Amino acid sequence: MVAKSAVSATHANWLDSFQAAYASPGNVKALKCPNCGRRALQLRFVTYSAGAIEGHGVVWCDACLTGLAGGPCTIPAGGVAVDHDEADIPRFHIVPPPSRPIVSSN
Ligand SMILES: [Zn+2]
Repeated sequence: MVAKSAVSATHANWLDSFQAAYASPGNVKALKCPNCGRRALQLRFVTYSAGAIEGHGVVWCDACLTGLAGGPCTIPAGGVAVDHDEADIPRFHIVPPPSRPIVSSN
């Protein structure tokens, strides 16, 4: 069941979701968000040069705007690559790994 309160999915939960999405990019819409439980996950690979075979994997949920921004990885077959200048990625809360403290400069 899904808690109604604050963000509950951990970085590990999101890594699982990213891996599931990565393994089957065409099936992302069937995956449930680990945070809110809705089937609203999005997967993109942000690239920095035309025709790049690697991109920065980003997975997020359009419903609760929470997700994960990963490092560079090979874009899988069926994965959606977007140029960093044209990426239609909304501002979402990035769940940090537990070893990295949340740094606020504000
Ligand atoms: Zn969600």
